[in-house]
Amino acid sequence: DPVLDDDDQWSLVEDLRRGLEEGQLVLHYQPQLNLQNDQIVAVEALVRWSHPKHGLVPPLKFIPLAEEAGLMGRLTEWVIDEALRQSAIWLEQGNEVSVSVNISASNLLSSGFAGVVDELLRRHGVPARLLVLEITETTVISDFDGSKIVIDDLLALGIEVSIDDFGAGFTSLAHLSGLSVRELKLDRVFITGLAAGGRERDLQLVRSTVELAHALGLRVVAEGIEDGPTLALLSTLGCDLAQGYFISRPTPAAACSHRS
Ligand code: C2E
Ligand code: MG
Ligand code: MG
Repeated sequence: DPVLDDDDQWSLVEDLRRGLEEGQLVLHYQPQLNLQNDQIVAVEALVRWSHPKHGLVPPLKFIPLAEEAGLMGRLTEWVIDEALRQSAIWLEQGNEVSVSVNISASNLLSSGFAGVVDELLRRHGVPARLLVLEITETTVISDFDGSKIVIDDLLALGIEVSIDDFGAGFTSLAHLSGLSVRELKLDRVFITGLAAGGRERDLQLVRSTVELAHALGLRVVAEGIEDGPTLALLSTLGCDLAQGYFISRPTPAAACSHRS
């Protein structure tokens, strides 16, 4: 599966290595709405690569490449560093929003990871509770015991941990209850267009997941909300936070600051 059609993998890896060094990565932020009080209380940081020739490259086109080339450690460190730098600016402006960052399987495998994150929090003077690290359900399941060790280290530092794309991996929530994570993000496939007809099974699935998650003390984020009726429905179902194009697309930090 070619990453970008007109380049071979080798020169792309070199491009990415150079891009990382030369500051070609950028973060866009997508707000999360608290459905209880209608406030933007959090944002998810999403990486893009501003490639000199290809323009703005979406993450799914280069994250797998970074993973293969052994660049995920550096990439994630850059993302967390940049997200916390922005978070410190928002804090200074009196805007206390938490920032979510996606981390990958290889980050969980590197032993010093929690220490690196702790050091970055200190450097930027951002309280640990304002950082949420998102780990996909599939990643957690691929190495449950290994993931649990790193997750426990992160939680001990006061960092929040979220299970991303939940439901797509067909794991039971009971299985994951052995992890003391704080947040569950329901996979977009169950959410987008939920209020349209013929979605009774997805509706039941979302309803019962929210109930079980709440019984386990987890907050639930619904992502992929693209219309008003779906937003209203998720609010009725008791979802805690909402994220999606209907609320806002991911945007550069400057655009977020103006809106809030
Ligand atoms: P994700 O973490 O599940 O992020 C949500 C994705 O859904 C984002 O795509 C976002 O733009 C998109 N999205 C949000 N609202 C809607 C909506 O209403 N409708 C639709 N159709 N899509 C919506 P994006 O930015 O292209 O990121 C894709 C994936 O790339 C992310 O999925 C995440 O797995 C990965 N990713 C992004 N940034 C990073 C990063 O810094 N590090 C790592 N390891 N992975 C990242
Ligand atoms: Mg995510
Ligand atoms: Mg997701």
